[in-house]
Amino acid sequence: MKLEGIHHITAITADAQDNVDFYAGVLGLRLVKKTVNQDDPTVYHLFFADEEGSAGADLTFFEFPGAPLGRAGDGMVHTVVWRVASREALEFWQRRLADHGIESRHEGDSLGFADPEGLAHELVVAASGDRPLVARHPEIAPEHALQGFEAVRAHSSAPTASEGLLEELGFEGGDGSWEARGDERGGWIHYDPPPGVRGLQGAGTVHHVAWASTPEQHDAWRAKVLAGGGRPTPVIDRFYFRSIYFREPSGVLFEIATLGPGFGVDEPADHLGEKLSLPPAFEHLREQVEANLKPVSSPRQRTAG
Ligand code: ZN
Repeated sequence: MKLEGIHHITAITADAQDNVDFYAGVLGLRLVKKTVNQDDPTVYHLFFADEEGSAGADLTFFEFPGAPLGRAGDGMVHTVVWRVASREALEFWQRRLADHGIESRHEGDSLGFADPEGLAHELVVAASGDRPLVARHPEIAPEHALQGFEAVRAHSSAPTASEGLLEELGFEGGDGSWEARGDERGGWIHYDPPPGVRGLQGAGTVHHVAWASTPEQHDAWRAKVLAGGGRPTPVIDRFYFRSIYFREPSGVLFEIATLGPGFGVDEPADHLGEKLSLPPAFEHLREQVEANLKPVSSPRQRTAG
């Protein structure tokens, strides 16, 4: 039994439209689902991914309108690491980000930058051989596009405390770098020393990282988390996938989510993310929810008229 790398990464934004403009407009991801936070259906949950809405390329945001900026501290993910095809792609991104007023640092096979709310990203030249997960964008050639997640980087003051649970969950590595590699994909978590200041959950910070499980093995993963000393939630049906959540010993909130049913369950593949999708359990709230939310549109919808 092996986890299939990173399923999704969820972060916090204070402004859904600005968030869509950056992630779909500038970074070229596809907005594949516009729905509500199932734990607080008065606010948006936005999902960006590749063209197919694949796990492995799915960055999601809870919108808390007007939330103050946070900062990553001990026990929090501080950087999302993406794969690109080549050094030429890194150069493309350095220029494209600069054209949009975003500074970046290019060092060897890596380009670091932050989104407008301070969430840190790093692009690295892919070495894994995993299938590239790419979205279409009129200004971004496929050979330059983001290809899905390579890793998350987290702060930990005691990374060795996480080793037992990570090993129980089939991660391999050591020295603060651990990979979950399944049959199709792999993804890493790297632990870095914490900064001198306390973390603050807020806009521009990561809320949790989800690892991917086949639907068949999901219950068994819950048992493994328990065996490794973790305290998982019961299985929660998120409609697009099923999930368990637990905090690993360094403090990072982990989720294990199923590969499927996926974002095609309630929208046709060529219209993902265009309308507000409410899972059946939330449909009766539609009127209330829609009255509360500022409409958000993706650049793709705007060019389509
Ligand atoms: Zn999640």
